[in-house]
Amino acid sequence: MADAPNSDEIWKFVESKKQKYFDLSDEIWATPELNFEEYRSSAVQPAALEVEGFDVQRGVAGLPTAIMATAGSEGPIIAFLGEFDALPDHSQEAGIAEHAPTTQGAPGHACGHNLLGVGSIQAAVALKDYLEKEGLPGRVRYYGCPAEEGGSGKGYMARAGLFDDVDAAITWHPSSFVGVGNPITLSCNEINFNFVGKSSHAASSPHLGRSALDAVELMNVGVNYMREHMPSRARIHYAVTDTGGHAPNVVQARATVRYVVRGGDPVELKSLVARVMKIAEAAAMMTETSVSHRVLTGEASMLGNETLEHALFGQIERLGPPQFSEEDRAFAQKIQETFSTADVKAAYANVGLKPKVDVSLADELVPPRNTTPTMVGSTDVGNVSWIVPTVEMRGATHAIGTPGHSWQITAQGKSPAAHKGMEHAAKAMACTGLELIQDGELRRRVQEEHRRLLEETPFLDPIPDDAFPDLPAHRAK
Ligand SMILES: [Zn+2]
Repeated sequence: MADAPNSDEIWKFVESKKQKYFDLSDEIWATPELNFEEYRSSAVQPAALEVEGFDVQRGVAGLPTAIMATAGSEGPIIAFLGEFDALPDHSQEAGIAEHAPTTQGAPGHACGHNLLGVGSIQAAVALKDYLEKEGLPGRVRYYGCPAEEGGSGKGYMARAGLFDDVDAAITWHPSSFVGVGNPITLSCNEINFNFVGKSSHAASSPHLGRSALDAVELMNVGVNYMREHMPSRARIHYAVTDTGGHAPNVVQARATVRYVVRGGDPVELKSLVARVMKIAEAAAMMTETSVSHRVLTGEASMLGNETLEHALFGQIERLGPPQFSEEDRAFAQKIQETFSTADVKAAYANVGLKPKVDVSLADELVPPRNTTPTMVGSTDVGNVSWIVPTVEMRGATHAIGTPGHSWQITAQGKSPAAHKGMEHAAKAMACTGLELIQDGELRRRVQEEHRRLLEETPFLDPIPDDAFPDLPAHRAK
């Protein structure tokens, strides 16, 4: 962008330290760890923050890999949210356009969270640098949030009150496109149902046995009939995580099925979960087994904030799209050849842009609420968004159309394009943070919108009071 206002001090702060964060992101890429087990990925972050003068608290909200770091002692608090967990079975060599796991079956950064956490640190540090240089009041906080992928790390951090004093929260996600994320996600609970029956010889004394596996099967049948009578945006998925053993001639005395229930908002979710619970109890009654359940996670749908989304978009517009090189585009094109044009078209449709088939990396900007996507997932950023006004940016870090949670994302996670997309996101986020600190009127409007939305729909935390995080120590059931 020849005519972009490069004089912007914050951009310069981001640029001056960028190599450090490219290296940190690559380091986290190289140690992919699953939810709540991100020991190494979490341990490398405090050093990067402490050297910048942040006061770092480790293990916050009872989560060993969660971090909260603050710089500054007075003024509004701007939060940057980071993630750093990887996905199972997505190990992949970097920088090549063919499926080649580095370690078969090992985790990999197939959602780009190596970039997500570090990009947020990069934004937090640049904003801190600027406030320090100008002697402006304002507090910058980085939240290192574990277990986004099926752990609700932020949900448990929110429930512990860690966001209560924050004025606004800013985050981003690696993406095919650059712009403002659409605050439309589903509320979600992940629940284990444990059935207990009575073991017996399946041939000589079947009448004395009561099968927990039968109960799981009947529960699944019941829920599958329920599907027809749910709101169309609701989703339910299940996996049988314990079949009760591998011996058909033994009546299975125990079995566990894990459900993921998703609804449009926390209220709708609650009613769907109540129906699924009823079906579980009915299945237990039919089979003369007993059932107990444990809620593992709860993710709230996103509560958007249009004022904040437009402020972020203004900063993204000032930057323009990231400046990718010919080599960046050529590699992205090779990656695109590994999936179909349907993937590319779906990616464009998802953000409401007109599809282009000859563009491999983002060259245009996605304005706030450009479309209403119908196929959406869930994120624990939602839990934060009900506590404080929250905005999520999309940063263009991979080839357009790259499927989510794919080996292709792992393959692109250390590429120069990924680094550029992360740096770009850090600049836009840091500038939005500064705008919020400097512009009291903007802050007031953002908070007013948040208050109004909460008045219309009070927050219902999808994490029940008695739920506890699914830390490795609690994993058995
Ligand atoms: Zn993700």
